[in-house]
Amino acid sequence: MLTTEGPDQYFSEEHVAMRAAMRKFVAAEITPNIEAWEEAGRVPRETYRKAGEIGLIGVSYPEELGGLGGDPFMAIAVNEEICRCGSGGVVAALGSHAISMPLVVAHGTEEQKRKFVAPVVAGEKIAALAVTEPGGGSDVAALRCRAVRDGDHYVVNGEKTFITSGVEADVLTVAVRTSDDAGAGGISFLIVEGDTPGLQRTALKKMGWHASDTGHLVFDNVRVPAENLLGAEGRGFMAAMLNFNNERLMIAVQAYIMAEVCFQEALSWARDRQAFGKPISQHQVIRHKLVDMAARIDAAKTLVYDIVWRHARKLDPINVHVARTSMAKVTATAAMKFCADEAVQILGGMGYMRGTASERIYREVKVLTIGGGTDEVMKNLAAAQMGI
Ligand SMILES: Cc1cc2nc3c(=O)[nH]c(=O)nc-3n(C[C@H](O)[C@H](O)[C@H](O)COP(=O)(O)OP(=O)(O)OC[C@H]3O[C@@H](n4cnc5c(N)ncnc54)[C@H](O)[C@@H]3O)c2cc1C
Repeated sequence: MLTTEGPDQYFSEEHVAMRAAMRKFVAAEITPNIEAWEEAGRVPRETYRKAGEIGLIGVSYPEELGGLGGDPFMAIAVNEEICRCGSGGVVAALGSHAISMPLVVAHGTEEQKRKFVAPVVAGEKIAALAVTEPGGGSDVAALRCRAVRDGDHYVVNGEKTFITSGVEADVLTVAVRTSDDAGAGGISFLIVEGDTPGLQRTALKKMGWHASDTGHLVFDNVRVPAENLLGAEGRGFMAAMLNFNNERLMIAVQAYIMAEVCFQEALSWARDRQAFGKPISQHQVIRHKLVDMAARIDAAKTLVYDIVWRHARKLDPINVHVARTSMAKVTATAAMKFCADEAVQILGGMGYMRGTASERIYREVKVLTIGGGTDEVMKNLAAAQMGI
């Protein structure tokens, strides 16, 4: 199976050094605390600060905002290492900035970047993206949360749901309808501070990702300064769509690493566990399961690397990039689903017990085939981009 330990055609010496630093950080500061954070339903603020200090949060942000200005393979190396902790909830909590703040970097004013992005990069503040509504998430152009201009403010009324870090977030990029245009043209983004009066936030209970808070938000006459409009009015839909590409690639990274965590746990168990006079890894059916897992991980990983490598060199037209990214998300999450299922099976009864990574990851599979664009929406998008 493809390993990424040394420099190769994708990862430089610098990437490898960063990977090693992250692996150490994850082993010392994250992995030992997962069970406690899963119980608590949150990652402590102190960990965000430590993650900010070491560059885990800021890897892809510009240096003038406190980031490392890392290239896409630096981002992959860092993401792979955080995902090796084996808790998607921790990854989602520490990573919710990555679906929110890039919008501000891409479309914000210098003042917005300084005020909102820099503290998040430093790990002092938590960021969230709020697009999905109780009425639906896939059809972004149909969202209803309304923002009406009133002097030097917008007044926001409506609801958002399933928002990662929605309760904890200090700053939220919120998709709103700012005109009577009922479709994509009426959508804008506002930056809303978490403590703004009229914003009510409730934590939702869910199947997995227990270390991450998932919030339901109600906006009741929330007054947002007009200077918090992100980019131009009515341009929010395209901004959201472009923002999705990176999110989907990073979900694919998370999926194949979680699959790899399952593989490693199953392999180690299969080598130790004896049945019918020999380690179960020596039974052909189990060996085949392990190879089937490795093959799927390899395919997903190399697909993501190839997409990122070609995109960095502008080798593909945007429709090809979007189609391959959509297919990579589906491929990688399918690999994770397969590997989580097989790992639990190989662990037998132990795979059903709390405390194994495979049990946790088994409960975390579904969210990755839904969040950031469902499998069905990914395939629709890929088909449209390929002219099918
Ligand atoms: C744990 C978690 C965290 C999340 N975090 C965030 C977040 O931080 N910010 C945020 O904005 N959202 C977040 N989401 C929401 C997520 O993006 C949405 O759940 C997702 O986009 C799907 O929207 P929906 O749940 O409303 O399902 P719907 O859009 O109602 O879809 C329901 C079903 O219909 C299918 N479907 C819809 N349209 C079509 C079609 N054209 N063809 C075929 N099938 C179709 C879907 O694939 C799905 O199976 C999160 C969700 C979860 C579960």
